[in-house]
Amino acid sequence: MGTVAYDVVVVGAGSAGCVLAARLSEDERRSVLLVEAGPDYPSVADLPADVADGTRPTVAHDWGFVSEPDEAGRSVPLPRARLVGGCSATNAAFLLRGWPADYDAWAAAGNPGWSFAELLPVFRAVEADADFADRWHGGDGPIPVRRPSPQELSPLQHAFVRAAETAGHAVVEDHNRPGAAGIGPMPRNVRDGLRMSTSLTHLAAARDRSGLTVRADAVVDRVELSGTRACGVRLVGGAVVEAARVVLAAGSYGSPAILWRSGVGPADRLRALGLPVALDLPGVGANLADHPLVAVDLPTAPGFRGPVFQALLTMRSARAPRDGPPDLHLFAAGPFDDAASPTGGVFGIVTGLMAPRSRGSVRLRSADPTEAPLIDVAHLRHPDDLARMVDATLEARRLSRTLPLAGFVDGPELAPGAAIGDEDRSAIAASVRDRVGSYHHPVGTCAMGPDPRRGAVVDRRCAVHGAQGLWVADASVMPAIPSANTNLTAVVIAERVAVWLAAV
Ligand SMILES: Cc1cc2nc3c(=O)[nH]c(=O)nc-3n(C[C@H](O)[C@H](O)[C@H](O)COP(=O)(O)OP(=O)(O)OC[C@H]3O[C@@H](n4cnc5c(N)ncnc54)[C@H](O)[C@@H]3O)c2cc1C
Repeated sequence: MGTVAYDVVVVGAGSAGCVLAARLSEDERRSVLLVEAGPDYPSVADLPADVADGTRPTVAHDWGFVSEPDEAGRSVPLPRARLVGGCSATNAAFLLRGWPADYDAWAAAGNPGWSFAELLPVFRAVEADADFADRWHGGDGPIPVRRPSPQELSPLQHAFVRAAETAGHAVVEDHNRPGAAGIGPMPRNVRDGLRMSTSLTHLAAARDRSGLTVRADAVVDRVELSGTRACGVRLVGGAVVEAARVVLAAGSYGSPAILWRSGVGPADRLRALGLPVALDLPGVGANLADHPLVAVDLPTAPGFRGPVFQALLTMRSARAPRDGPPDLHLFAAGPFDDAASPTGGVFGIVTGLMAPRSRGSVRLRSADPTEAPLIDVAHLRHPDDLARMVDATLEARRLSRTLPLAGFVDGPELAPGAAIGDEDRSAIAASVRDRVGSYHHPVGTCAMGPDPRRGAVVDRRCAVHGAQGLWVADASVMPAIPSANTNLTAVVIAERVAVWLAAV
């Protein structure tokens, strides 16, 4: 391939990248290249069945990352989608906003423009909410969102909702309304069974534009820098694409890895890998936060074929501030067939810790762009995180013993296991440690903030500190993890940055 010049190259066609490319190509005089490592399925008819199916997540198009072993030698899968649409094309399609306090904290940390009041117009503009038309919601944005009606709930989901009510949790009609905490229907971006990725909600309408080129199956090795000015990207294989501006949207593992390979990161570590140092930015790859997840598993009848996620309970653990965001998610998942269960079926009461205090990192093993990064996901490293996950397990157990949900439990608890009593917190903690996994919400590895000496990688407009013509706009820029699933917030970040980039 010869050298091609673009006004903007967007690296990574995920939740954020598809939005950026769609918005930036609205002005057809601007030439935009969207580069994606994985394949492209341009129309709904082309989608593999699992990618189309909005009832459950899939990991068939995946980078295959696993975490570095923890102190006990345990690694966990860290799925990251590799296709146009990114994780929005494979995820569980829970479409949730963080609490206002989450975004207000970003602004208070030196990022003016990111308070909830300033983001609310963007949250409204991106959604077409089928259930609520009030000051909190939009009706004509690109992302459809709806909640199941009580009549649509599967028998298990209905029982979960009723058990949570019986156990004393407040009823929530709308989890995306500020202040919501309790049990209510899950808002999801699924239409007629189809998962509405940003490839469908944003990129599809832009594909015919003369200024937009989508290049799939192309892995970006690094950003080409002239001094500290971005002037293009180098692909694996050696081809160089020239561009006036480069926007990284390769996600919380991909974006810091590309920056390191470009010589942008902690100088000492780059040198140790034999990488050139263009910009010493110690925060690149640091500050990784993720929501840990663990379930109480229960035996039940097999053979169910309906929806598996329809309701969500949000609540505060005993250690959460009373007026702050709920720090726990609980939801029923299943039933699934499971030959290992004595009944042939299993369902989980899944618990997620939404305000983890543990922080990990993403680093490189080598300069080789085809080698997976070293991901220290740090789940439960902070003792407070483990204690709150034990609280969550105890609450999940309480719900499993509450009617009508208790009627679905056809035998002794499978995990943590009926032999472990509620009073034995240390045995429950050991079980949580053994089984904890990811809720798949890594953020923070190219954090936004005013001061690069204190770990900030990008400024409040998502431009890389100290560089010219280089931005990061994806989940990696979140300076702190919101108390909600991260897809919608990644989309909102991309919408904001696209407006600023279009004005540069
Ligand atoms: C299994 C699963 C379930 C989830 N469920 C939910 C949910 O229900 N609700 C929710 O809100 N969130 C969910 N999430 C998380 C959410 O989807 C992510 O937070 C969000 O998609 C992140 O968006 P992003 O744009 O930062 O990154 P991504 O969507 O991951 O996009 C990054 C893109 O960049 C590409 N890329 C990376 N490196 C390179 C390179 N070197 N060259 C070229 N391309 C590259 C990748 O292939 C990918 O397409 C889930 C995630 C997973 C994995």
